[in-house]
Formats: sequence, structure tokens, C-alpha cells
Amino acid sequence: MRRALMSLCRLFLPDAGLRRYANALCVVVATNLLTALVFYQHGGGERTTRNWVGPQPYSSSRNCTQLYNLNRPDYSFLYRASSSPPSPSLPAVFVITPTHTCTTQKVDLTSLCQTLSLVPKLTWIVVEDSRTKTKLVSHLLSKCMVESVHLSVATSTKYKSSLPWPLYRMFGTVRGVEQRNAGLRWLRENYHPKNSSGVVYFIDDDNKIDVRLFSEIRKTKEVSVFNVGFAGGVYYEGPVCGEDGRVREWHSPSAEWSIWASSRKIPIDMAGFAVNLHLILARPEVLIGRDVRGADSRVGQLETDLLEHFTTRERLECRGSNSEVLVWHTKTADPNLKHEFHYPSDRASVAV
Ligand code: UDP
Ligand code: MN
Repeated sequence: MRRALMSLCRLFLPDAGLRRYANALCVVVATNLLTALVFYQHGGGERTTRNWVGPQPYSSSRNCTQLYNLNRPDYSFLYRASSSPPSPSLPAVFVITPTHTCTTQKVDLTSLCQTLSLVPKLTWIVVEDSRTKTKLVSHLLSKCMVESVHLSVATSTKYKSSLPWPLYRMFGTVRGVEQRNAGLRWLRENYHPKNSSGVVYFIDDDNKIDVRLFSEIRKTKEVSVFNVGFAGGVYYEGPVCGEDGRVREWHSPSAEWSIWASSRKIPIDMAGFAVNLHLILARPEVLIGRDVRGADSRVGQLETDLLEHFTTRERLECRGSNSEVLVWHTKTADPNLKHEFHYPSDRASVAV
């Protein structure tokens, strides 16, 4: 050890004369430095504390609940916070979610279920991309506190891409089309235009949503639009609205950077609009995946192609605020399973 320290000193004091006198001092200083470094790495000793600006530690006598309740928005519309049942005049919300078997399907649906369970008067139409309903989704919905409808339809070969994975993500075909259409058909078979009121909203199984959005979309008279975080290849995509509640322009990638943006009349993500149920029921022929001329929708065009059947840019209703995002087009990363091969889980008895 002493030798190693002396070689270290030699690096810094190349002159032999100086070294003779300074060696002893150098060893002492280096030893102290090393000890301090090891001590710090192991988190030992009393650390000097800086002025802590965040919430007080849990053990403090201060009441943490009170601390976090300061300036809290009004959440009285939530089930948990409200003591009275929702009013009969509150428009119902129908949420259509396509879902497919993948590693993170259970966590995505669990998270979405628990968010939606906070919202009153909501029906969740979950449509699996599968010939038959799977046990995983059936079980999950049976435990979920949300009124739900479980459907399944397998994606036809028309919508399957033959490209390998990274290319498929970039240039592949549209996803979840037949599943969303199955949700629309279910609504048309089960509700009558004359005596039904409600709002229809599409959300992917892997998106994230702030429950306050539902209070906004319930106001939808025809078609409403709002911001979506992380959509369109930008931080957020959505309408820029005037004080009259109409769309002035769009915050969306321009034609220069996006191969499809220029041709989207209504450049919005699937989670960025809601349609009143009466429009869906009044036009039973309208399905996702076809534009107004009857041509198949291209990648990135599903939303505008659907909305152009029902509305025009001028009629769109703005919801939420220009400066806030209440829904995010997120994607759940594939987990790291590199050791699963050596240590296979008992997946039959543990549902992950
Ligand atoms: N989806 C599906 N079948 C598939 C791929 C996706 O039903 O083969 C569903 C998926 O679960 C999600 C929606 O379609 O709810 C959109 O798919 P994804 O999230 O992969 O697309 P992106 O968000 O990248 O547009
Ligand atoms: Mn998605």
C-alpha cells in the first residue's frame, strides 16, 4: 500500500531532491484523501446537510397530507372524492381501447383500469386483437372497478405488415383499426340515436391520462379536440384555440419534417378528440380506416380520415386549455428479460 502511494507521489513530484523531503508528507495526505473517498462512497459518517427545500421528512411532526393538499384542483367529480352519485343528466363516456397480447399488456391495462375507475359514468369497451377473448384480459376486467364490455377481433392480413420489426414501426401499417371499429359497432348495436346521450373517446392501452380530461370531453356537442403529449413527434400536438373556443391553428409538425403532416386536414392524435355518441349513431356507415372518398387510410391519417366524415375544421370544439396537456401518447418500454432464459419464471402460476 505504502509503495503504491509512493509511486503515486512520484507522478506528482518528479524531482528526486524534492521527493526525499516531501515523500512522508505526500503519503500522509494521500492516505487521508483515500480514507475520505472510501468513507464517502459507503455513505458513512455524518454528512453536512444543506438547507432542505423540499417537503419535511416523514418523521417530522408536520402533517404531510396537508402539505400536498395546498392548491389542489377541484377533484370533487371523482368517485373517491364525491359523496353523492353522479347526476342522471351527466353525459356518459364510452372509452374504446384496442389491446393486443404483449409483455406489458397486463401492466398497461391495470394502470388504465385504475385511472378509469376514478371516473363516474364511464363504460370501457376493451377490444382484444385476438380471435377469442384471452384469460388475462377477462380476469383483469372482472377485477376492474369499471363497467366494461369485452370484445375480440383478430387483425386481418390486410392490416398486417410483412416488414421486420424496426421497419414495421417506422413504415408499417395502421394498428388497432378493426378493434376500434368493433367498439363502434357495439355502440351502434346497443344504443339508439333517439334516446342515448354520451361521448365516445379512443385511447390506446399504453397511453396515460389525467382524469380531469373526462370533465372536458363530457361537454362535447359534436367533435372536440385537445392537446396530446408526445404525439406527432413533438412534445405535444393539438389545437391552438381562440377565446371563442374555436381552432385558430394547429400545434403540429409542419410539412417540412413530416411525410404525412401536410395532408392531414385535422392533425390530431387518436387520443386528441372525442365524438358525441349521437354522431356515431346517426352515421352507422362511418368506420375508422376509410377516408371520405372511400380510400383506405394511410399511416398517420386515421384520425383526420374519421373526423372529416363528421365535421370540418371550423366546427371543431376546443376543450382543455392551450397551455395544458391532460393525455399523453406514451409507450411502455419492453422490460429487460435478458436473464429469463437462464432462470425461467413459472409463468403458469405467476401472471406478470
Ligand atoms: N394494437 C393492436 N394490435 C396490434 C398492435 C397494436 O390491437 O397488432 C393496439 C395496441 O394495443 C394499442 C393500439 O392498437 O392500443 C395502437 O398500437 P400501438 O400502441 O402499438 O401504436 P402507436 O401508439 O405506436 O401508434
Ligand atoms: Mn400506443
